[in-house]
Amino acid sequence: MSDEVKQPLWTGDYYNEGAVQIDPFDTLREECGVFGVYGHPDAASLSYYGLHALQHRGEESAGICVSQHDHFNYHRGLGLVKEVFDKDTLAGLQGNNSIGHVRYSTSGGGGLTNAQPLVFKYKGGDIAVATNGNIVNAPEIRRELEESGSIFQTTSDTEVVAHLIARSPKDFVEAAKDAMNRMVGGYAFMLLTHDKLLVACDPNGLRPLTMGRLGDAYIFTSETCALEVIGAEIVRDVRPGEMLILDQDGLHEDRFTPMQRKALCAMEYIYFARPDSDMNGSNLHSARKRMGSVLARERFVDADIVTGVPDSSISAAIGYAEQTGIPYELGLIKNKYTGRTFIQPSQELREQGVKMKLSAVRRVVDGKRVVMIDDSIVRGTTSRRIVSLLKEAGATEVHVCITSPPFKNPCFYGIDTPDSRELIASMRTVEEIREEIGADSLAFLSYEGLIEAVDGDDRASYKGGLCMACFDNDYPTQVDFGGDEKIGCGC
Ligand code: SF4
Repeated sequence: MSDEVKQPLWTGDYYNEGAVQIDPFDTLREECGVFGVYGHPDAASLSYYGLHALQHRGEESAGICVSQHDHFNYHRGLGLVKEVFDKDTLAGLQGNNSIGHVRYSTSGGGGLTNAQPLVFKYKGGDIAVATNGNIVNAPEIRRELEESGSIFQTTSDTEVVAHLIARSPKDFVEAAKDAMNRMVGGYAFMLLTHDKLLVACDPNGLRPLTMGRLGDAYIFTSETCALEVIGAEIVRDVRPGEMLILDQDGLHEDRFTPMQRKALCAMEYIYFARPDSDMNGSNLHSARKRMGSVLARERFVDADIVTGVPDSSISAAIGYAEQTGIPYELGLIKNKYTGRTFIQPSQELREQGVKMKLSAVRRVVDGKRVVMIDDSIVRGTTSRRIVSLLKEAGATEVHVCITSPPFKNPCFYGIDTPDSRELIASMRTVEEIREEIGADSLAFLSYEGLIEAVDGDDRASYKGGLCMACFDNDYPTQVDFGGDEKIGCGC
């Protein structure tokens, strides 16, 4: 192979930059994904397959840290899981216990420095940390630690927990509990030492974390789809405020704080998680179908076909079609292979709405009145362009039905959202949004409809056990820490 051929050919950014695409700046970005194994001789390989299943939660970097006797083996890199790891790197990751991470950097900044798991040495030995979510008061804790002499290696919030543990006079587990109690936010933590795996979920259970079993081994994952891939069984969700400790004596179920109001992120159900995952006892595909069906009951539109914006809205479109009897059709197709492109489209092509990610199927939509189902409207530019794609392909009417209430407020718990001034629903009425996106009609799923559709095991609890703050401004935690709070993902 010549040197020339060895050079990377792409000039674009990372795979799937900007998800639904057309407008890479008009989408909510997933947070991160975590995956842990305790007690399996192929911990690294299981982590590889697990992280691969969680790839949609973070495409910028991936890493695995494995503990073997008295040392760690770890590897991290920028890119997709399949790009970061190969046979040789996996072969070097020997050990029975591991934590892994896929990352979508937002407020913590990008780059290899912040790729997780982060690994530290302290007086108690080695510690590796991986997290999904955001610690709202991390800037405050960090400032306090720096003022008393701590030197941080990264800009990631995750490092804060390592410093809190390292400075504590208590043993590892008690120090970790104290650290969790200092932090406010939405998080799922995994901490690995040479002889322990510790996992913890924030007091409101904002970010998902599930425990599974594979033979005698324990598996922990952000989503259950990763358990299915490795043939593990679902045991249960890690509960809000819970801390599970695995060591040579097995599983110790503990907690660092009593559970507060349960508030699992509603956007996991609506958009982020894979449809084959279960959360709170509900399958995501089924929940999304119910969202479509409830929306159809709330807002019936007389139309010829129903189509969903791929991939996250297909399930809801099927639900809408089943409820109304209007046929479901593949009116929009997503091109899955446009991630890394050889050339960046010129500004002129961008402005024309480069149809690289999404295309309307002319023979399906031409001459039809179309109900277009989508999960959310962020800035409105993507919706406008999809409506225009359908109309250019001959749709006579496009009725937009959104399977969430209007997205009005930023997220402080790990979802990268724009400033509220850029969220179209915070500035405009439904009729104004309809006009701006060029739709013939526009409807949003109601709050009550969303809770009914999610139908989890906490339906009787406050808001069905959901966080819906980006819709109703009712944040389950304090979010104002003197102006330093971050929006997005700090992991
Ligand atoms: S504010 Fe919205 S996106 Fe953030 S955790 Fe709550 S429901 Fe999820």
